[in-house]
Amino acid sequence: MPPGTVFRPFLRATHRANVMGTTQVAVAAAVAGIGAYAWYTRSNSTSSDKPVFSSFGFHTLRLDSTELINHNTKKLRFALPDATKPSGLPLTSALLTVAFPSGRWLPVIRPYTPVNDINEPGYVELMVKLYPNGKQSTHLHSLQPGDTLTMAPVRGLAWTANQHPHVALIAGGAGISPMYQLARGILRDPTDRTRVTLVWGVNTDADLFLRDEFAALEREHPGRFRAVYVVADPGVGSQHKKGFVTRQLLEGVGLAAGEEQNRDGKVLVCGPPAMEKALKGKKTGVLAELGYRPDQVYSF
Ligand SMILES: Cc1cc2nc3c(=O)[nH]c(=O)nc-3n(C[C@H](O)[C@H](O)[C@H](O)COP(=O)(O)OP(=O)(O)OC[C@H]3O[C@@H](n4cnc5c(N)ncnc54)[C@H](O)[C@@H]3O)c2cc1C
Repeated sequence: MPPGTVFRPFLRATHRANVMGTTQVAVAAAVAGIGAYAWYTRSNSTSSDKPVFSSFGFHTLRLDSTELINHNTKKLRFALPDATKPSGLPLTSALLTVAFPSGRWLPVIRPYTPVNDINEPGYVELMVKLYPNGKQSTHLHSLQPGDTLTMAPVRGLAWTANQHPHVALIAGGAGISPMYQLARGILRDPTDRTRVTLVWGVNTDADLFLRDEFAALEREHPGRFRAVYVVADPGVGSQHKKGFVTRQLLEGVGLAAGEEQNRDGKVLVCGPPAMEKALKGKKTGVLAELGYRPDQVYSF
């Protein structure tokens, strides 16, 4: 499919229905619905002078370049249809990617949060961690410059400047992307005075692939931004805390709900399912134990 064209998976799903069972046909019909909606919104809502992702619609972008960031993470840079315009994504948005990895007859749909500045014109960059047997991450890591990927915008939390005195961003592994986008967006908005604490839990030091970018934000915004890293299996001589994102760790870095800055604060979480469950479980969750109300916690 050439870049910039509308996604029409329903055509493929309809063709394949001839060889499917009832459940498969039902799933394919759902996919067809998404495809039809995507086609409808694309052809009715986007005028050419608007940034491509300023309203809902699927678009197919061409992969410009790839860069290996560490042992399991690649940065993929996709060209926007208009090199002079930014993506149009508001802060905390992700891109819902849709692909038909080879050997699969159903599409794989996963969100990824662009890591480049949302105001930059001409491209979006995804930082994708490869999971063993991961359907979409394996497909995305196999893409070569010139290949295409279909995606649509999905909005996250509607961020309002100065709504909270302080925001805590708690990320696990590749869950860092939405946090990076939001932290940078808050800190680079001259009207936003929100203070930000990031806690990023990873397996090894090498997984801290945005460490330099966060160090730059700390230098540029002293007293407003702090990054805390916790590493399950740190290397010899590692500067970082060893362990996991626990109640003790969060208390130790000033993230108990009773602390002055957190009383009207917000906590944002993005990480592997086990981590999110440990943090957000209703009765035994770490954040509830720390005194946060459910309305103070948001999960991407
Ligand atoms: C809002 C949002 C933004 C995201 N942004 C990014 C991003 O920028 N970069 C990025 O790499 N990922 C991001 N993700 C995660 C991404 O959407 C996929 O879940 C991830 O790439 C795995 O998909 P897969 O199809 O490769 O793996 P699957 O085929 O779904 O799973 C394969 C294996 O990997 C394990 N696995 C799947 N997801 C995770 C996980 N998150 N943590 C630990 N183990 C897991 C599964 O348990 C399974 O064993 C984001 C998720 C959300 C909700």
